[in-house]
Amino acid sequence: MAKLVVDEEKCIGCGACTSEAPELFELIETDSGYKAKVKKEQVKGKEIEQAQAAINVCPVDVISLE
Ligand code: SF4
Repeated sequence: MAKLVVDEEKCIGCGACTSEAPELFELIETDSGYKAKVKKEQVKGKEIEQAQAAINVCPVDVISLE
């Protein structure tokens, strides 16, 4: 089990993570534009692979597994 975290302050809302792992991330509209939000904080098994794929495609490296 690992904790999936997005630094929403630094996220640029590109949507790459939501395309890669739609079960784990969603885009929400905020006053400062779109931001990725984690739909599922505790991930395990195949979800960790999906989270890792999202980490790999994030252009600003703001997704992490703790
Ligand atoms: S891939 Fe990174 S920058 Fe793009 S929406 Fe997801 S967390 Fe934000």
